[in-house]
Amino acid sequence: MARIVVIGAGITGLAAAYRLREISRAHEFPIEVAVLERSSRAGGPLHSVVRDGFTIETGADSFLTEKPDAVALAQRLGLGRDLIPTREEFRRTMVVHGGRLVEIPDGFSLMAPARLGPVMRSPLFSPLGKLRIALEPLVPKRKDRRDESLGAFVTRRLGREILDRVAQPLAGGIYTADPWRLSIRATSPRFVEMEQRRGSLIRGLREAEKTRSSKSSGTSGARWSLFATLRGGMGTLPQAIASMLGETLRLGATVQQVTVTEQECQLRLESGDSLSADAVICATPAYESARILNLCNPRVAELLRSITYASAATVNLGFRQSDFPSPPRMFGFVVPILERRRIIAGSFTSLKFENRAPADTILIRAFVGGQLQSEMNSLSDDAMIAAAREEFHDLLGVTAAPILAVVQRWPESMPQYEVGHLDRVAEIERAAEASGRVGIAGAALRGVGIPDCIRAGEQAADKILDLVMRNRR
Ligand SMILES: Cc1cc2nc3c(=O)[nH]c(=O)nc-3n(C[C@H](O)[C@H](O)[C@H](O)COP(=O)(O)OP(=O)(O)OC[C@H]3O[C@@H](n4cnc5c(N)ncnc54)[C@H](O)[C@@H]3O)c2cc1C
Repeated sequence: MARIVVIGAGITGLAAAYRLREISRAHEFPIEVAVLERSSRAGGPLHSVVRDGFTIETGADSFLTEKPDAVALAQRLGLGRDLIPTREEFRRTMVVHGGRLVEIPDGFSLMAPARLGPVMRSPLFSPLGKLRIALEPLVPKRKDRRDESLGAFVTRRLGREILDRVAQPLAGGIYTADPWRLSIRATSPRFVEMEQRRGSLIRGLREAEKTRSSKSSGTSGARWSLFATLRGGMGTLPQAIASMLGETLRLGATVQQVTVTEQECQLRLESGDSLSADAVICATPAYESARILNLCNPRVAELLRSITYASAATVNLGFRQSDFPSPPRMFGFVVPILERRRIIAGSFTSLKFENRAPADTILIRAFVGGQLQSEMNSLSDDAMIAAAREEFHDLLGVTAAPILAVVQRWPESMPQYEVGHLDRVAEIERAAEASGRVGIAGAALRGVGIPDCIRAGEQAADKILDLVMRNRR
């Protein structure tokens, strides 16, 4: 019997534990899995609250379906029928520009457009800015293969306006990061590849668009929208795994330290308990993994500690539909830092997905804080709600008091993938593997999105089992 302990029951740790269970069952190979989680619930930012008829996402609200890992996991868990797509009739994303909401040009993908027509017609850019964007296919590709910041990459290829007015706020909505520190290779490798292979992002995106549409024509239509969620909220995904794990998931169990000998791993818990295992998967935030692994692998700990984090919060507000001067018809909007506002983004949860709010009401959520507005994290709940209301008043014309308000803080939750991140991660993985019994996975390393975390957890499970087998031979 192999005994493996997973530390941390966020989606990464849960995916790892579930994978180990699947392997054990499929191969009739006994693996004893224990999951130790510090807090009183599993799932981390996958946390839904149902109140007064609203299904409130206090953290993550959906996931990308282009990466198949989250859809596949939901299906294996028997949640396939609960997967729901976005409401296409409201598919519009806006950006704040000069204090107004302006639609992001059609065909735009994070930092570059697939087509120039919509850009030329958009009020978002100046005539000079548009000319600069149109020249992108003529900009020579970079010869230096080293990493650079997303800010430098976008400015070099498409000019400063696109960075300030679209790429910064869109990337900010995902990474809550400073674009001049954010690694382009770690966050947007496909754009680096487009530059290298096609010599142009606009050309690369246009070709990708054509390939997508030729693939979907002839079939009965795309199976999934770009984003999906679960009918009962994102929290149902970790809940499903947690209930399958049963008593092997221990909540309120904080691991303090792991030590490794030739024969086994020893875990010391804050409670004073200790445990032994053949191997450990550390699926905690980088700063926690650093603390836990400090004794057994100081080099890994040092590298993990150098991954910094930002804090953020969500403010969910429920309104009556009639509180809006005109019915909103959009998924949401992002806010460039240059606009000097107090939220990173606003998202109409109940327009994005069905059944998130009672009839005639609207659930809207503000995303607050991050690296560029860190001062927001120190506001009281009331002050955060007041700031979100002020912004929604200015931008959407809502003056009424909300019928529901839920603030959720996410301290030190957003790993910052700074320039050089992938080199650091490769070194962490190499050094961890050398210890023979420790796997490391999680949002801090190779992708912050839910599908990335699931894939990382599953790969960590495969790898650690391999190591255990090798150690036994
Ligand atoms: C507000 C917010 C909104 C987001 N929205 C989206 C979205 O819409 N779509 C998307 O794809 N992604 C989204 N993300 C990103 C995504 O949700 C996260 O990257 C992902 O959930 C991280 O999972 P994880 O398991 O790696 O880490 P975590 O969820 O942080 O899990 C780590 C776990 O380890 C536990 N732990 C820590 N220390 C110890 C210890 N010493 N002993 C035992 N346990 C310990 C923690 O309590 C925690 O449960 C969002 C993130 C945030 C914060």
